[in-house]
Amino acid sequence: MGTAASAAGAAVTESVFVRIPALAARHGAVNLAQGVFDHGPEEALLSALAGVGGGPEHQYAPSPGHPALRAALARHIHRHDGVTVDPDGEVTVTVGATEALHCAITALVRSGDEVILVEPAYEQYAPAVRSAGGTTRALRLSSAGERVTAEALEALVTPATRAIVVNSPWNPLGRGLDPDEWRAVADLAARHGVVVVSDETYEHLNLDGAPHHGVLEAVHDPELRVKVSSVSKTFAATGWRIGWAVAGPELTRRIRAVHQFLTFCPSTPMQLATATVLDAPDTPAMLERRARELGERVGGFAAELCDVGLSATAPDCGFFVLADVGEDAERWCDRMIVDAGVAALPMSVFYSEPVAEMVSVVRFAACKRPETLAEAIRRLRSFPA
Ligand code: PMP
Ligand code: GLN
Repeated sequence: MGTAASAAGAAVTESVFVRIPALAARHGAVNLAQGVFDHGPEEALLSALAGVGGGPEHQYAPSPGHPALRAALARHIHRHDGVTVDPDGEVTVTVGATEALHCAITALVRSGDEVILVEPAYEQYAPAVRSAGGTTRALRLSSAGERVTAEALEALVTPATRAIVVNSPWNPLGRGLDPDEWRAVADLAARHGVVVVSDETYEHLNLDGAPHHGVLEAVHDPELRVKVSSVSKTFAATGWRIGWAVAGPELTRRIRAVHQFLTFCPSTPMQLATATVLDAPDTPAMLERRARELGERVGGFAAELCDVGLSATAPDCGFFVLADVGEDAERWCDRMIVDAGVAALPMSVFYSEPVAEMVSVVRFAACKRPETLAEAIRRLRSFPA
């Protein structure tokens, strides 16, 4: 038994989003490593939460999600993605996008199946595939300018390919998939019956105000697509832990089969407050304002990084700023946490194998108050290169 326990222990790896924030806290470093806000949430969330009554609102919701939230999500999706989905049969409410992704991937993947990941890829995807007994095949992009092509995807397909995971807008590349890339992904799905799991957690953070284009628009067969999103980034509320998966009825049945035994349902008061916010008439204007303000802050931070001497680019979407630090990024990040008091992430954590063009690139999460970003810049400026 001791052997089994230690063997299991040996297989455990710690998420960078567990390890680095803890290290940052230990060294009193400004945490720009993790996409977590140091402000917010939007006032509308607080008043919606205060408006939740007492009584059944504090008991389990139905496992697929509170009917009020599923209905509000269907309306929101209709307005935002231009697609009609059935709140009863096609929407499942989960504990953040994290649980939605886990349920979708483990509902789909069986032992021996393969899943295509497009790297740089969010840390959670590969472990979810492996926990279901699957293996991953990576399409690796070496810059935000490089594109996902039909040929590159086709080269990765085998008879065992079950799904592809895409992330649009893309953490950490800071752009969405363009129409040609969506076409390549949709063709792959149609030709090979590969299911597209689309992580759209940053869908409301198009900093230039451009409309969002997601999987519901690109892939027409509901059984070949899963849209995943959440309130975390949309409303600066990563601690609410409300997310959702939208898929065709058969896929939804399988997703719910995993979800019922994993968490059963997320917090009911948070579900009800989310429904109120999604339905509020001024929410679309609030989302536009948020994206605009965030864009100004993120753009300003990228400019300050350039001024410090790091070659940084502002993203089109989301809040991650990529900067070339001109040396090994892993060493630079280790040094900066301890010596300068600034935590950031090396891009290598988003790749399963090293990519030469990214070895010296660092990701900064700029979803912070202006004074936090200013303090990080002050520390970086005073640190001798
Ligand atoms: N996908 C991506 C790409 C993310 O960056 C994150 C972190 N916000 C998640 C999923 C998980 O989001 P949530 O907080 O809703 O679980
Ligand atoms: N998604 C966030 C990021 O990329 C962090 C998620 C987390 O902390 N669990 O920074």
